Amino acid sequence: MRLSKNITKTIKTIPADEQATNAKLLIRAGYIHKEMAGAYSYLPLGLRVIENIKQIVREEMDALGASELLMTSLQAKETWEPTKRWDDSVVDIWFKSQLKNGTEIGLAWSHEEPLMLMAQQLVQSYRDLPISVYQFQTKFRNELRSKSGVMRGREFIMKDMYAFSRSQVELDQFYSEAQQAYLKVFDRIGIGDYTFVTFASGGAFTQFSHEFQTVTASGEDTIYLDRSRRLAVNEEVYNDEVLKQLSLKKGQLERVKAAEVGNIFNFGSVKGEQMNVYFTDEAGERQPIFLSSYGIGISRLMGVIAEHFNDEHGLVWPVPIAPAKVYLLAIGDKKTIKTADKLYNVLTGHGVAVIYDDRDIRPGEKFADADLMGIPWRVVVNAKSSTDGYYEIKARTETSLKNVQLKALLDIILT
Ligand code: ATP
Ligand code: MG
Repeated sequence: MRLSKNITKTIKTIPADEQATNAKLLIRAGYIHKEMAGAYSYLPLGLRVIENIKQIVREEMDALGASELLMTSLQAKETWEPTKRWDDSVVDIWFKSQLKNGTEIGLAWSHEEPLMLMAQQLVQSYRDLPISVYQFQTKFRNELRSKSGVMRGREFIMKDMYAFSRSQVELDQFYSEAQQAYLKVFDRIGIGDYTFVTFASGGAFTQFSHEFQTVTASGEDTIYLDRSRRLAVNEEVYNDEVLKQLSLKKGQLERVKAAEVGNIFNFGSVKGEQMNVYFTDEAGERQPIFLSSYGIGISRLMGVIAEHFNDEHGLVWPVPIAPAKVYLLAIGDKKTIKTADKLYNVLTGHGVAVIYDDRDIRPGEKFADADLMGIPWRVVVNAKSSTDGYYEIKARTETSLKNVQLKALLDIILT
């Protein structure tokens, strides 16, 4: 990515009504553009972060055996009526609209019901099961408040996965595998140390749902955390009885703010029965399909990470999701720029994602932007580089520089 040819620009003035640190930083650093409260566009750098997060999630969902699909954003009223979830008093965040002929439709806020209807057609026998599918999709929710930047959008990107099972035992098996996969995802993204399985409400079939909560002061949730057991209880279900049930001791729990980055639900056979989605078992009997669903807030994750990893100079992306690994710039004459051009080609030739700051501005501004954008490595080509073959490399989180030749540079960057 050559900055001179890219729409990316760091900006000095952020929208006056923006309160959230994540949004302020992401806007200033040129990652997102605010359309209105709760709706943000992803600029090229922001999109790269989103795609990097998605790719990690995709690999772990594929490893579970789930297949990726993409469902519609327009949803039919009839689909949601059997479970009562069309009703605004049951689901209070619907965006609804009408077709020209007056037919009511809704904008997707979740996909359990549409997916169940799809299963009604595609799953008939026990031989078709178990099966799981997932998607990355834009969800619409008419949230009352939207003051947490990309951590709470009225339009946001979610990964949602749905598993169809033949029995509660089979469901439970997948549920625990998915839970492990989620922990792997958060580890790989760089927030594993701060993210905890949390008992929460919302179980349609079981008493609890399980949330994945990342500890951060900007989180909207309060959880009670047992660090040694890496387990937490959401405030909403926190009481003596629950603590006893989970063998948690009040004295060992920390009350902390956290952001829900994922949530998994066990619906048991409830939805199958409500929506008349059955399969024929080995004995030829009709049985309701068992459903579980698994969400991860992809765009919320970007916000949580921006909140967590930053310093006075700007963002500090974990390497696995950074929009580029290297921020490259030249200080010097035409010859130096030529050397930088060459290095840019060598690095990209090795598959390294590089932001090449080839703009005609002062080096100081480039340094500031490299820090603000939070790119893991900064590489400077200077007047001597073309003759002595040395480049200056600095990690985003360090102040000391290293002067290295190409081989050593590649060693650092490629590991
Ligand atoms: P919350 O309690 O934060 O409103 P939720 O429990 O309604 O979230 P789910 O329906 O479980 O959310 O959605 C799955 C995941 O999608 C959540 O764990 C969260 O990470 C993300 N998410 C939910 N609502 C939003 C939103 N308005 N903006 C961004 N991400 C969201
Ligand atoms: Mg939730």
